[in-house]
Amino acid sequence: MNAQGPNRINADEVRCKDCNILLATIDDSGLNIRRGELQATVDGTFHASIVCYRPRCRRLNVLRMTTNGGMTNHTE
Ligand SMILES: [Zn+2]
Repeated sequence: MNAQGPNRINADEVRCKDCNILLATIDDSGLNIRRGELQATVDGTFHASIVCYRPRCRRLNVLRMTTNGGMTNHTE
């Protein structure tokens, strides 16, 4: 898989750039990360670094987005 820009986010799902596993979802409340007993929701404008939880992957995925006023991927 080729490396896309960090602002390349599918509408509702955030997937690992390497193994394509689901890392988080995005809905009206913001970015939702759920792994086992951990659940986190982030809204507003943010820049997040998520390391893939697959031991064989461990790819760093960088997200940069704005949830205020719609799901617009923010590019500087
Ligand atoms: Zn991965």
